[in-house]
Formats: sequence, structure tokens, C-alpha cells
Amino acid sequence: MQYRQWGQTQQTLSVFSLGTMRYLADQAAALAVIKTALDFGANHIETAQAYGDSELILAQTLQTTINRQDIYITTKLLPVPNAQEFAARLDRSLQRLGVDYIDNVAIHGINTPEHLAWALEFCLPVLETAQAVGKIGAIGFSTHGSLALICQAIESRKFAFVNLHYNYFFQRHAPAIQLAQAFNMGVFIISPADKGGLLYQPSPQLRELCHPIHPLHLTYRFLLSQPGITTLSFGPAGPDEVPFPLEVADQTHPLTDAEKAAFWRIEDHLQATLGLERCHQCQACLPCPEEIAIPEILRLRNLTVGLGMEEYGTYRYQMLEKAGHWFPGRQGARCTDCGDCLPRCPSQLNIPALLRETHSQLRGPGRRRLWEGN
Ligand code: SF4
Ligand code: SF4
Repeated sequence: MQYRQWGQTQQTLSVFSLGTMRYLADQAAALAVIKTALDFGANHIETAQAYGDSELILAQTLQTTINRQDIYITTKLLPVPNAQEFAARLDRSLQRLGVDYIDNVAIHGINTPEHLAWALEFCLPVLETAQAVGKIGAIGFSTHGSLALICQAIESRKFAFVNLHYNYFFQRHAPAIQLAQAFNMGVFIISPADKGGLLYQPSPQLRELCHPIHPLHLTYRFLLSQPGITTLSFGPAGPDEVPFPLEVADQTHPLTDAEKAAFWRIEDHLQATLGLERCHQCQACLPCPEEIAIPEILRLRNLTVGLGMEEYGTYRYQMLEKAGHWFPGRQGARCTDCGDCLPRCPSQLNIPALLRETHSQLRGPGRRRLWEGN
């Protein structure tokens, strides 16, 4: 396991951080996962007040199995426009975790400008007070928001770290990582394996293109080779799932020729398969009056058509309109053919037709086509 400096803090984190979403309900599995991950050198566990009993399970583990001083803990608290309520949330996390000090506290989900305003006005003062009296260490934020919003939050200079989405198949937030690095902030990558492409079980096509490297390892290496990234989350469901991802935990060097060649094979294949129908993710088509998530939908199409990642495409597409600000935008069937986006697309894509095709492919089984009537 390699370790990296967590921005301007005094913490040196393992380059893999244990996420705690997948073994919430099972104390025995939690104990085994945490212990195994620590045996492999992980020293950072990330949880959240909103993850069900995750904090409580971690507390039990701390009482029985691991020493508090062996790990860094991050928890996350949802923002709220009320300092008193936010202070109560912080107290609740301290109590549930059974600790008198939390190494890192993030405002959970600065996903909209309103969240950022709440964070700056109501939440940060609470956290800064707690920091001053030694209840918490570093203050950061997690986000599923737009690049502009993330950069605005970073530029506030109020945060020591950021948790965000970024991976080989979703590189839009690269400028935010550069900005965070310039401000000496810690950078935590959310779920690069699962949300980044269901890479524990990659599509046969992707597996073939990456061969002899496993797609999971290739995507981790893409991230580990970037010094501006501190740590990647991984979320094993059981102790048997711990070793495989960590096979690359020592490999923080620049990409090798073999890894670069695998990425070139992926790019060549995407180009050959998608041709002139490839969306280049420039975002110029936005805004859509129907709030359709055009670039995200066409990104999922790129991966589905180009790399056989239909399971992933379906998984993410079906979250649209269900996850609110955690995954904003509407599905492709909402297109009214207004044509506003068409002249803005430098690739001259027939966006309405591609949206309909993608909706048909990724909407999931047994659903009626929305554009076929009420
Ligand atoms: S044509 Fe469809 S996708 Fe394009 S802006 Fe209009 S409603 Fe949105
Ligand atoms: S403008 Fe065209 S290429 Fe750019 S994100 Fe929109 S659909 Fe894709």
C-alpha cells in the first residue's frame, strides 16, 4: 500500500480508502472487511450519517477490533440551512461513532448552489468552531454537482479536501482536481469501480480490450498515476473482495507502456464503433429546456454501444429522475424535438434521435416508451 499526503492536513492516507456502503447491515462482515483492509495497509475509513447504521457499525468495530489511532475516519453530514440543526448533526455523529474526535468531516453533497450557500453560511461556522475546540480535524465537502459549482466551492478556500466523481470514463472534473491540487487540497475519488463502470464485473468487450490488464486495475492505475489524487474509495462487500482491488495499491508510478496501449485500444475501438455518432462530452448542447441530461445520456450511449457496457448504462440511466440532485437531469424520452440543442453541437449529432435510441436501450425491461403516449 502506498500513502499520500492528505492536502494541507497532517494526515497521510492510504491510496485506497474503505467505503462503508456495501456492508451496512452485517456487523460480522463489517468487522472482517475492516480488519482485512487494515491488514492490507488501508488506514482511512469513510462513512456518512446518511448511510443507515454505518457509523454505529464502525463504532462497534472500533470498540472491539481496531485501535482508534490506527485509522483516520471521515464522516459526512448533509447540509442544512440552520446552524443549530447542523451542530446537532455533528454531535450525533460523534456520539454514534463513539469517539471524541473525528479526523475529517465533510459536508455531504454540495450538489447545488443552494447547498454551497448553506454550507458557507450555516455549516462551516459550526465545523470551524468544532475544529477550534479539537472535536474534528479537517473540513471538506463531497459533491455530485457541476464542474462550475465544484470549482466555486474549491475557490472559496474554506475546505481542506473534496470528494468527487472522476474516472477514465468520466473525466469532466479533471479541472477541479487540478484546482484542488493547486490549492493543496486532499482529493478523494468516489466509487471509481462501481459508479465508474461496474468494473468488478466488466463487459466482455472491455475485458478483451484491456487484456492482459483487468479493467478494474486499469481504471485504478489511471487514477493512482495522478499525483493530485490522494485516495480512491473501494467498497468490498466481504473480506474476500478486499485483496483483488488492492493488487495495484503499490503502483502509483506513471502509466506504463502496456497500460497506455490498453487505453489506446479502448479509444480506437470507441472511435471505430461510434464514428460520427460519438458524443465528445463538450456540454455545448446545454441547456435543454426540458432539462434532459444530454451529455450524460450520450456518455452512457458511448459506453454501451462502444464498449458493451449496457449493464452499467442501464444502471446509471435508470437513476435519472429518481435520485434528485444526486444525479440531476431528465431522461431522453422527454425530448420535444424543439431543436435548440442541434446548432450548438460541434459534432452535429442528431441529438433527439440518439436520445430516443438510448432511452429505448437503457430504460430497463418491460417499460412502456414514454414518447408513445401517456
Ligand atoms: S431537441 Fe430535445 S434534447 Fe434538444 S434541446 Fe430540445 S428538448 Fe432538449
Ligand atoms: S454538444 Fe454534442 S458533442 Fe457536445 S456534449 Fe452535447 S451532444 Fe455531446
